[in-house]
Amino acid sequence: MSVRHSGIGMTSQRTRLRMIERLRGQGIADEVVLSVMGTIPRHIFVEEALASRAYEDVALPINYGQTISSPWIVARMSELLRANSDLEKVLEIGTGCGYQTALLAQLAQKVYSIERIGPLLTRTRVRLQELQIRNVYMKHADGLRGLTEAAPFDGIIMTAVTTHIPTTLLDQLMVGGRMVFPKGTQKQNLCIIERNSQGYTETVLEEVNFVPLLAGVVKK
Ligand code: SAH
Repeated sequence: MSVRHSGIGMTSQRTRLRMIERLRGQGIADEVVLSVMGTIPRHIFVEEALASRAYEDVALPINYGQTISSPWIVARMSELLRANSDLEKVLEIGTGCGYQTALLAQLAQKVYSIERIGPLLTRTRVRLQELQIRNVYMKHADGLRGLTEAAPFDGIIMTAVTTHIPTTLLDQLMVGGRMVFPKGTQKQNLCIIERNSQGYTETVLEEVNFVPLLAGVVKK
């Protein structure tokens, strides 16, 4: 594990445990998600100047106009994705700084994660390597197409907002699988799409605030 930023108080296990307590108090009920979040050094996923704020319940900038999602939203989406059972194969769209990815790596056997901004992904690859996370495959691509070569997935999580999920992506969901994502434009809500043998059902949940899903890739 990296020793970056070590030695400053806010990176301590105690600070993380306080974050977990707060999340529990805010209604996060999945103890598996909470205990894994208690082990991940969130401060190494943000720039050093912001490390002292990494455990606050806020989204923070991670360059290229993107943000690391707040601890609460990461916990909430993860518990919705897990639905109290272990995951096998998960697809994440919007790798960003890789914090959610690192969590998923402990909630699923294998994680596939797609990011459209090349330099962001390059940095994240190094970070996950430093953390010795080995069950994540990352791809620089437009995530809306999914990853047919690895499909079907029992979970798909998307961390950027859109109004419509294309069928090419929904097709990659296993029967019994679910997709969790923010949906909307000005007003956004968390949304779950579940696939059963008859087709798909959609559930709309609480209001959220995400950066937009964009088409195409950014090379540098
Ligand atoms: N979950 C990450 C990132 C959240 S920001 C974190 O917490 O750090 C949303 C991310 O989705 C950004 O990194 C953005 O570049 C990425 N993104 C937006 N549209 C995308 C697309 N079509 N395909 C893949 N990634 C996309």
